[in-house]
Amino acid sequence: RIVYLNGEYLPEEEAKISIFDRGFVMGDAVYEVTSVLGGKILEFEGHMNRLARSMAELEMTCDLTRDEWVEIHRELIKRNNIDEGMVYLQVSRGNAGDRDFHYPPEGTPPTVVLYTQAKENLADDPKAKVGIKVISLPDLRWHRRDIKTVQLLYPSMAKMAAEKAGKNDAWFVEDGFVTEGSSNNVYIVKGNKIITRQLSHDILHGITRASLLKYAAESQMEIEERPFTIEEAQSADEAFYTSASAFVMPVVEVDGEAIGTGKVGPVAARLREIYLDESLKAAI
Ligand code: PMP
Repeated sequence: RIVYLNGEYLPEEEAKISIFDRGFVMGDAVYEVTSVLGGKILEFEGHMNRLARSMAELEMTCDLTRDEWVEIHRELIKRNNIDEGMVYLQVSRGNAGDRDFHYPPEGTPPTVVLYTQAKENLADDPKAKVGIKVISLPDLRWHRRDIKTVQLLYPSMAKMAAEKAGKNDAWFVEDGFVTEGSSNNVYIVKGNKIITRQLSHDILHGITRASLLKYAAESQMEIEERPFTIEEAQSADEAFYTSASAFVMPVVEVDGEAIGTGKVGPVAARLREIYLDESLKAAI
């Protein structure tokens, strides 16, 4: 695989960073994951805008322009022959000197890494036909989940716990209400209404979420942005989640209770189709 590191395209074995890099020692780095379908980049502007916001919130800087970001994405897609897959992008605060809690001096270059991951059946995912099952867990993450940092240890632990329980993923619960999934935004469906938690520091502002809500509204669905409980999800007609790599994924069970019929419902199935159609149309 050819990867990008700080201005260079390199074979992955040759891409090396400092052991003092703050992304490595402090989790001081932000990231984005963008899907590629038919060799085209989905939701590019959304991911770039959120990257800029994450960096601004952490007072991190990087002088790559939008056009340079596009070019790096396209070059990696081309060099690695990606038809379906993902582009992973990470910017860390770098570090010129030794380990230190204080940020390095202004002007210290960030560490910029991008690489592709080829995936088969990203759009035609067999899991989307049967739906996935989740467990609930307390949300033990920090309180700025709107900043997309690489501090992913708890989500990683949550996925391991879900797997150990024989399920696919975990939904996080705080003060009695669902915040989000371990790496996705979550929704329940009641009749013609979609219910999902409102934006705040409590959840990541999903790029897929923003587009999905727009497409749902255009399809005459009602949208209510508010928190919901696990019990409400268990008695809903349907549930699903959204993320850049899974698009719209039906959720058919929470904590051992089937949601609706326990099968993929019509709303989630249709929203997945609409999302894939529309986001492909807007792909660059
Ligand atoms: N919430 C969390 C915690 C996530 O990690 C992700 C995936 N990046 C999402 C939501 C979904 O965001 P997006 O649609 O932008 O991928």
